[in-house]
Amino acid sequence: MDFDVIVIGAGPGGYVTAIRASQLGMKTAIVEREALGGICLNWGCIPTKALLKSGELYEQLSHLEGFGLSVTGKSFDFSKVIERSRGVAKQMSSGIAFLMKKHRITVFDGAASLEKGAPAPKVVVRLKGGEKTSLTAKHVILATGARARTIPAIGLEGDGDRVWTYRDALAPKTCPKSLIVIGSGAIGIEFASFYRALGAQVTVIEALDRILPVEDEEVSKAAHKAFERRGMTFRVAAKVTRLSKSKTGVSVALEAGGKAETLEAEVAIVAVGITGNVENMGLEALGVKVDRGHIVTDGHGKTNVAGLYAIGDIAGPPWLAHKASHEGVHCVEHIAGLKPANLNAPIPGCTYSSPQVASVGLTEAAAKAAGHEPKVGRFPFRVNGKAVAAGEMEGFVKTVFDGKTGALLGAHMIGHEVTEMIQGFAVAMTLEATEEDLMATVFAHPTMSEAMHEAVLDAYGRALHI
Ligand code: NAD
Repeated sequence: MDFDVIVIGAGPGGYVTAIRASQLGMKTAIVEREALGGICLNWGCIPTKALLKSGELYEQLSHLEGFGLSVTGKSFDFSKVIERSRGVAKQMSSGIAFLMKKHRITVFDGAASLEKGAPAPKVVVRLKGGEKTSLTAKHVILATGARARTIPAIGLEGDGDRVWTYRDALAPKTCPKSLIVIGSGAIGIEFASFYRALGAQVTVIEALDRILPVEDEEVSKAAHKAFERRGMTFRVAAKVTRLSKSKTGVSVALEAGGKAETLEAEVAIVAVGITGNVENMGLEALGVKVDRGHIVTDGHGKTNVAGLYAIGDIAGPPWLAHKASHEGVHCVEHIAGLKPANLNAPIPGCTYSSPQVASVGLTEAAAKAAGHEPKVGRFPFRVNGKAVAAGEMEGFVKTVFDGKTGALLGAHMIGHEVTEMIQGFAVAMTLEATEEDLMATVFAHPTMSEAMHEAVLDAYGRALHI
């Protein structure tokens, strides 16, 4: 069969690319070896949010007194918590099946590999039933995503039993009583937050000198304190040297400050990054340029092989669903000869722990390193009326402006539902807003978003409520 575009991989990169291609009048096919929606919908973004919501609600039950409320007999049914999360994933995945149908995209259930061809490589699909089918197209777009990075040499490798990757951690049979999380990126911190909320003893080990190390230093520090208040334990600047399994649990040897230490727990979660799915697709035979697990592309998703493109996780960082979708839309619009949205648009990053963390653009340190003279503003939620009324006083908003031009360079937040608020600053940065534009914007009262306005005002010594 022949198509205009074949997309390989139906995660948020691939399925969005296919929809946009179809909208642009291209005859489109998509190939998926597992489930529509990819890791994001089935084993990542979406089911973790369902778990985190259960954890958050359960935790809140312990803090009702201040609101004049009380409950007795607080408990949870772990299998139902997991069941709900799996149900949410299933619902979203079938939503993608509907979208594929609606946009007349042909779906192939199977694993694709590439063979030499023109004007684009030939796509051979080994269908789930076992038979093979050959497809041709003018353009082939790889969107095969990534999987958990493992370090087998020191035992950092999931076994589905005692040592979990994110996939295992999403649907275990029982809730562990004690847990060691290796890596304090978004994956590590979200699972640490969920299992701690359900009462597990949680220790997070991070090789760098602070948790959530990609975030602004002040946010990392505040997050560390906030999680400690909830009973988590941290080892930072601590390198795991060996993870060993036993019948009853795991033993993690680490080195911190020149000292060796061993921690024990029922289960360990390995969350030390991800690696691109570049294997078993015939990329070597085609001569596709791959650099450290990622396909090398030009500014529009094009690889060094004619007719072959790559978008999303497989094309390199940041490894985020929304970045993948953005790149996919850009790629097909470029193929269609349109003038697509800028690929360098600011990309927000969110961690859905309790409290949440969200950011966009440069941290204060990165702004300085890039040669800016940053003007920085901060505003804490503890003096924001809506936050006080809602009992959500933890956290703050921080803004980073260019001292010379007034351009908003970055924004950083920690607190209740800040993952919903960060978009305001993402819009502002995309529209190249300055401090004047933001100061002139009217923020609804009472909202926690008013802290965003105040953090802008504070950068220029004009905060009104502190
Ligand atoms: P990550 O790269 O963000 O974090 C991994 C952490 O592990 C790093 O801080 C690293 O210093 C640490 N580390 C590495 N080796 C170590 C060792 N031997 N001992 C101790 N610490 C070690 O990776 P992740 O959290 O696994 O997430 C993978 C990707 O998926 C990230 O890019 C993330 O942005 C993305 N993701 C995003 C979300 C979200 O947006 N909410 C959720 C999940 C994943």
